[in-house]
Amino acid sequence: MRTAIVSAMREELSLVLALMPDEHKVVVGGRDFFDGHLHSREVVAVLSRIGKVAAATTAALLIERFKVDRVVFTGVAGGLAPGVNRGDVVIADAFLQHDLDASPIVPRYEVPLYGTDRFATDAALTQELAQAVQRALPGTRVHRGLVASGDRFVSTTAESRALQAALPEALAVEMEGAAIAQVCRDFGVPFAAVRTISDRADDEAHGDFVSFIRDVASRHSAAIVEALLA
Ligand code: SAH
Repeated sequence: MRTAIVSAMREELSLVLALMPDEHKVVVGGRDFFDGHLHSREVVAVLSRIGKVAAATTAALLIERFKVDRVVFTGVAGGLAPGVNRGDVVIADAFLQHDLDASPIVPRYEVPLYGTDRFATDAALTQELAQAVQRALPGTRVHRGLVASGDRFVSTTAESRALQAALPEALAVEMEGAAIAQVCRDFGVPFAAVRTISDRADDEAHGDFVSFIRDVASRHSAAIVEALLA
């Protein structure tokens, strides 16, 4: 069983990489793939880079070139729904692209030729991930549901409110998940995703984004991944 652990940015993955004793770096398509072990399990950890195209390319390479059996994303996201606050954890049940609009040919958000606007994550792997979160981070507020992805760092209160109004179900917003979910569905590979809320996608979102990832989110990622693979 080969597990892919994916993050967008180095800061998100740094402590996971520190848990891998024997990884070797393989650069493909400008991405750094770290092929090795974590708790004796075969792991390929990779930095997808930011955005849907980067994430989709990375997912396709993980599956076709690195032959992974399952894909887990861990990183940060902006909280959208009320009560989804900084430091909380969101586990995705499904992903939607909030910036996809091929209307009037198909309804807004629907992915052309798929007949749906959302891709569910793998139920069994998501359950395993949820249990890992509980073991790794007792006392942390955990939310589970829809996550919206798009090629925008949402960092104004106006845009965040508009997204909440258009997609009241969406718990959080980020820039990669829906792309990976679509690729994993195309190839029939299980996918699950967990995100620590780094900001509220509002006028303060820029704040101390990077220091929060270093001090809080990267620790969450490492603890969750350890619990998942232990
Ligand atoms: N200022 C940062 C921006 C990175 S983009 C930099 O220069 O590095 C934000 C990354 O974190 C993306 O990978 C995305 O998935 C996630 N993210 C966190 N908060 C977000 C938000 N409010 N909107 C969109 N993506 C967000």
